[in-house]
Amino acid sequence: MHDIAAATLPSGTLLPSLGLGTWKMGENARTASQEVESLKRGLNLGMTLIDTAEMYGEGGAELITGKAIEGRRDEVFLVSKVYPFNASRQGVIDACERSLQRLKTDQLDLYLLHWRGEHDLEETVAGFEELRRAGKIREWGVSNFDVEDMEDLMEVEDGENCAANQVLYNLSRRGIEHDLLPWCQERGIPIMAYSPIEQGRILRNTELIRIAKAYQATPAQLVLAFVMRARNTIAIPKSSDPHRVEENAGAAGLEISREDWAALDTVFPPPFRKQPLEML
Ligand code: NDP
Repeated sequence: MHDIAAATLPSGTLLPSLGLGTWKMGENARTASQEVESLKRGLNLGMTLIDTAEMYGEGGAELITGKAIEGRRDEVFLVSKVYPFNASRQGVIDACERSLQRLKTDQLDLYLLHWRGEHDLEETVAGFEELRRAGKIREWGVSNFDVEDMEDLMEVEDGENCAANQVLYNLSRRGIEHDLLPWCQERGIPIMAYSPIEQGRILRNTELIRIAKAYQATPAQLVLAFVMRARNTIAIPKSSDPHRVEENAGAAGLEISREDWAALDTVFPPPFRKQPLEML
């Protein structure tokens, strides 16, 4: 079990700063049991946040998640997301009900709008608030919202109840450090960093490998430590391999010197001007 630092929602609710992604899970019956095993391994290691969505495997990832949390729902901070095209006031309620059935639970800890779509934010927020009053969700938030979208959201009735924003953030995608990250930090809204290891694409970088070695760490652990270094930020790496989940859990507590972060800044520079929010 790793000692994973906590992040905080504006309500004061604590959640782990290192969790488990599920995109690409639930797409193939042959790999299902290994996916369940990977999530269980992560939970055992203290990565007690699972991020899923109705989109992933068109419900398949929620079924996998439901199996992984069976008998231990209370240990888990459970996050799912609604498709934008389902995010009308009533649509959000119906979609949540379907997700709860697949997850075999009666409440989500956090329910996110996956990205901004055709429905007015007023409608979506009204649906979220109704779900909250009914006890189907504890909190709600958004995903892929840039600063302008967050500002629009704050104009909507109850918009200030937004508990989190899940966006692309990793060592090679640092655009949010310019504006969105500080904007959220000032308001106590955590950033959930998706694709925190850039889906594996940056792990062969020689500087990353060199610095990781100096700490007896792996490149994946170093890039996860980078994401968790930012205040109130949560990394949600996905792996369907229990050994890699163990490796990722080992990122918790990794302390990197200021000099080594600065060396990484030269290879993966921080933004010096506004960059539109990237999406994967
Ligand atoms: P990640 O950066 O988490 O990378 C996942 C990929 O990296 C997989 O191919 C995985 O393969 C591989 N991998 C995992 N651990 C290691 C390791 N230690 N060493 C080498 N390779 C590794 O990308 P994701 O895009 O999956 O993002 C994480 C989660 O964020 C998603 O699963 C999803 O829950 C969420 N997300 C949300 C989005 C949104 O729009 N809100 C968009 C994208 C993601 P393998 O499984 O074979 O180990």
